[in-house]
Order: sequence, then C-alpha cells, then structure tokens
Amino acid sequence: MGSFRIGIGYDVHPLVEGRALVLGGLRIDHPRGLAGHSDADALVHALCDALLGAANLGDLGAHFPETPEWKDAPSLGILERVAAMVGAAGFRLVNADCVVHAEEPKIAPHRAAMARAMAGAMGVDPGLVSIKATRGEGLGPVGEKLAIAAEAVVLVERAEAPGAPPGPEEGR
Ligand code: MG
Repeated sequence: MGSFRIGIGYDVHPLVEGRALVLGGLRIDHPRGLAGHSDADALVHALCDALLGAANLGDLGAHFPETPEWKDAPSLGILERVAAMVGAAGFRLVNADCVVHAEEPKIAPHRAAMARAMAGAMGVDPGLVSIKATRGEGLGPVGEKLAIAAEAVVLVERAEAPGAPPGPEEGR
C-alpha cells in the first residue's frame, strides 16, 4: 500500500477580446480568448498543477515562470513536460477528473477532443481523462463571462521499475 497519491489543481484566466481561445489543448472558435503569459489554457494548467501536486513537485509557476521562454507557449507542450517530470519521479496516471467553469462557449461538443489532446500530451489513454463542465449561472466572474476557471483532481500510482520481479504479494 501507500503507492497511490492524489493531486488537486485550479486555475482561472480572464476572457478578453483579441486573443484566441485555447482550452483543453484545443483552439476553439469564440469571439474572445483567455489572457495570460502562455496560451492561458486554464484547463491544461489545472491538470498540470494536479499532476505536480500528486508527485509533490511544486507548482506550475515555479517550473514555468513568466519568462520570455514561456511567452505564448502552447500549454499542451507544458503538460507534456509535466507528465515527463511526474513519470521521472516514478509515478503514472491512474485517472484525472476535471471541471471547467465557463458560461460560454459550450464545452460538451469539445469534451472528447479535449480529453484526446490532453491524454495525448501525457501519453495515456483518453479514457483516463474525464472532463466535466458547469456554468456560472450569472454569478461571479465566470457567470459574468469575464473569466474561465478549471479544476482538476488526479490519482497517480507508483510505477513498477521496468523489469522488476513481482513482489511477494504479486504474481499469483
Ligand atoms: Mg494559468
């Protein structure tokens, strides 16, 4: 036992004119986009922070600061790096569950493609990545269409060393 760990992530970015909307690794046709130093993909950022948290590797800002290197960087590339860090720390993803908070656009038509994009960046089966969405019901910055927020929870397990013989509890 003791080989499972969980992580939580949260992010929010303002919705502004003159930016492309990138969410869940997809470029979505919408009149406004999320503002931020990178492509401001709040969903991918939440998932990255959850992965880093599960492996106790600090937070996204510590690894990918607001330096020129990460200006307008595609967040899927950042997720790929985060997944590699978590893998190098000895963990593999069991599953991820995400919630997008957005008044618009509708997330449901994009959910499957988002899961494929994010799973692809992590090198896992898309079936391990759940994406749910909820609206702000007119309340707060999400409800007033000023922002999109996202949360993610992940479970990881300690990966067996390649080629390791089965332990005493295994191989039955
Ligand atoms: Mg962010």
